[in-house]
Amino acid sequence: MTPTAEEHAERYDLHGLRQQMLRESSGTIDDSIPELAAASADVCGIAIVDDDGDTRTTPDADLEFSVQSAVKPFVYALALVDDRERVLDAVGTEPTGEAFDAIVLESETGRPPNPMVNAGALLTANLVDGSTPDERFARILSGISAFAGRELTVDENVSRSEQLLGDRNRALGYLMRSRGTLDIEVDDAVSVYARACSIVVTAEVLATMGATLAFGGRNPVTGEQVVPREVVPIVLSIMATCGMYDGSGRWMRRVGLPAKSGVAGGLVASVPWQLGLGVYSPPLDGEGNSVRGVLACEKLSDDMGLHVFGPPRDEARYR
Ligand code: GLN
Repeated sequence: MTPTAEEHAERYDLHGLRQQMLRESSGTIDDSIPELAAASADVCGIAIVDDDGDTRTTPDADLEFSVQSAVKPFVYALALVDDRERVLDAVGTEPTGEAFDAIVLESETGRPPNPMVNAGALLTANLVDGSTPDERFARILSGISAFAGRELTVDENVSRSEQLLGDRNRALGYLMRSRGTLDIEVDDAVSVYARACSIVVTAEVLATMGATLAFGGRNPVTGEQVVPREVVPIVLSIMATCGMYDGSGRWMRRVGLPAKSGVAGGLVASVPWQLGLGVYSPPLDGEGNSVRGVLACEKLSDDMGLHVFGPPRDEARYR
């Protein structure tokens, strides 16, 4: 019998993987806001959480950074919990092949193409329960903290910069208002979304969040059922098709896991019913995904047999 993912995770040389990743020097630091531009290129944190909530980490897995777009699947999950039919009606579920900040809506419907691009996330962040921006953000922060298994906070400097420099997101907001897709003030919508992107996480936190999705919405560290199990397949399937932007096709071929990246250098992946993975390393590839995060997940997937379409653990049965 092939070792289980948990057995692999217990004895995998994560530190050796990190050293190997640090020898990769390609990629560029995001400079869309000053706080992101100040990040170090010489850090790489990797974390794995299994079904018992056991957590394995490398150095740098405790470094704090803003979650950015890696928050989008979790905000989407919370919005689905709060009003599933409205969310599925308001936001598409199709990959675009465009950049995450593309000024693109579905031509016929005026809907955002999916909840992983900025237009979709801007809308889903404002479809969670709450009649004011503060109430909606409070719902998001509480829900994301439950996915993380700890009380999370916001980097107020990042949030301020995201709002001050968020002209493209405001443009998306006005475009959606012009199509009747967004019915609240654009600045209010952007403020909720910008604060969600500014929530502070670590690679270890991302691995716990990824594990919560991996185990049907139940946080394996705290035991809390964060979202109902039936919401999870919707979220994981859209992470798999859209989570890595226009690198999603290559990612699914090479890694084969639902995942989501963020421009601060975070990457979260879920191995359904096996593990959650979190990686943090700021240098990004051309699609806005962490170079070392992608490479680390490729290696983990190959070495531990994590590809969702790979051979089964009890492969001998099928020979
Ligand atoms: N805050 C960033 C934005 O709104 C997030 C982008 C990302 O992480 N891909 O563009």
